[in-house]
Amino acid sequence: MTIDNPELESHSTDSSIFKIRPRQVIYPKDELEIMDVIKHAKANKRHISVRAGGTCMSGGSLNDDIMMNLTKYFTNIKINQYAKSAEIEMGAYYRDLDHEAVKYGLMFAPYTSSKDFCGIGGMLGNNASGEKSIRFGATIDNVLSARVFLADGQLYNFEEITEEQCKSMAEHKSFIGNIHKEMREIYKNFGPAYIKAIGNVKKSSSGYKLDKLFDKEKNTWNFAKIFVGAQSTLGIIHSARLKLVSIPTHLTLLAIPVNSLGLLPQLLHIIMQNNPESVETFDVNTYTMAKSFLPEDTLKIQNFFAHDEHLVILAQFDNDEIAQKVFSELKQIEGKTEYVNDLEIATSLWKVRRSSFGVMRDHVFNVSTKKSVPCIEDIIVPISKFDEFIPRLMEILDMNKIDYGYHGHIGDGAIRVIPIIDFVNQKEAIKKIILLCEQVFELVKEMGGNSSADHGDGIIRTPFLRDFYGDDLYEGVVVGIKKLFDPDDIFNRGKKVGLMKDDLFEIGLK
Ligand SMILES: Cc1cc2nc3c(=O)[nH]c(=O)nc-3n(C[C@H](O)[C@H](O)[C@H](O)COP(=O)(O)OP(=O)(O)OC[C@H]3O[C@@H](n4cnc5c(N)ncnc54)[C@H](O)[C@@H]3O)c2cc1C
Repeated sequence: MTIDNPELESHSTDSSIFKIRPRQVIYPKDELEIMDVIKHAKANKRHISVRAGGTCMSGGSLNDDIMMNLTKYFTNIKINQYAKSAEIEMGAYYRDLDHEAVKYGLMFAPYTSSKDFCGIGGMLGNNASGEKSIRFGATIDNVLSARVFLADGQLYNFEEITEEQCKSMAEHKSFIGNIHKEMREIYKNFGPAYIKAIGNVKKSSSGYKLDKLFDKEKNTWNFAKIFVGAQSTLGIIHSARLKLVSIPTHLTLLAIPVNSLGLLPQLLHIIMQNNPESVETFDVNTYTMAKSFLPEDTLKIQNFFAHDEHLVILAQFDNDEIAQKVFSELKQIEGKTEYVNDLEIATSLWKVRRSSFGVMRDHVFNVSTKKSVPCIEDIIVPISKFDEFIPRLMEILDMNKIDYGYHGHIGDGAIRVIPIIDFVNQKEAIKKIILLCEQVFELVKEMGGNSSADHGDGIIRTPFLRDFYGDDLYEGVVVGIKKLFDPDDIFNRGKKVGLMKDDLFEIGLK
């Protein structure tokens, strides 16, 4: 079924700064229709990308050709309460999965701050993560198996297999056999160096997730993982089996207002040593902008920003005794640390945190041509490096005369810095974004971090991937995997491989 103009318009944007109008939007009704579209694309040199909730901040699904949307007809969800898992099709929204899982006291743990709008397809596509990932990992750590349409138009099931099974698959003289054979080679030749280049961080979404393909301890392979974070550049995920976890019943929140950024590593170290349930942050600029969107909530939490604080850390525990111990330790370093007993204050703190990006995105600046620009918003750095990293990051922003706000999953080291750029002269604005990305990603690399924690490369970061991984690893792994799975460049053209820095000047903006 093909739909016309309003659909083309609504599929032209996401939460990135870009706007690209697709030629066609398709809501396939069944598997055969998806297979036909892939075969048509191959025969006619067309390009397909897939979209779920359309909340991606990197422009991950935007494309000028075929946009496939699974949210109408691929929405089945089946919960297995005993196995604590869900069989789910990729057009389902997170909120629908949550609605079903909660009936059994379960949740899909890596939910995002955009959980009310995002799709499961997009969570897998981006390897999304969130406030519970500190304990339960990112999406990729919670995907058990996946069914995926590949470039030959066939639907394959990928799950954990033994080394022997993988070897035997690699001997098949077929498209899928060759994928197993070549992936084993790529892993052998580039695996150690690529995994090192990803950085010393718990989660990442840049390039392809070669680091999760092979489990050394179990001596098993799981090819489902290579599609997670791949942003539909390797195939179209049809459905997956996801791990669910029990919802915690009792939580205690500590709020730590921070004046001196130099204290961050020490504070975070104490928190992280004590198995927190989540550790999040937002800064004073985000708080100030939130005042016009959430006046009552910001009023309730004003004490946390009453004395020139840079940011507040929210550290949540599911064990009262531990929370009490951490509270005492933190209090000695940062005297304003609070044990939040008042449910209304806790709710307001979480509300401002979860709305942080929306607040910045929708803020109307005094200069109407200014915009919040997701570009360096997805960096992740080991928290042990924060005392050196944060001041150097601020130096770069100041040197480039860029205002910003930040928030994020700080316990994992993911700090969402959103620069505010003036687009009065579009070319100059893009130049500024490119320079900022170059400088910040270089610093992140030096610190052992990654340019993308969970938003993916999309349009905005693909041009910087080669610099980040270096020519050999970029060609051997990122280009190598893309060509292996998608030799005719059918799937989500330009993302991960293709887009260059100069292309950013040509792409339409919102
Ligand atoms: C206010 C706000 C807060 C956010 N907070 C977070 C956060 O806390 N953590 C976080 O990780 N992200 C966050 N995001 C970013 C985004 O919401 C998430 O990455 C989300 O998971 C994307 O889901 P979606 O369904 O909207 O994706 P879409 O934009 O539809 O797609 C995202 C990517 O997935 C691919 N994709 C979609 N379906 C499939 C499929 N079937 N097969 C293969 N690939 C597919 C797309 O091609 C695209 O590349 C936030 C965004 C906003 C606007």
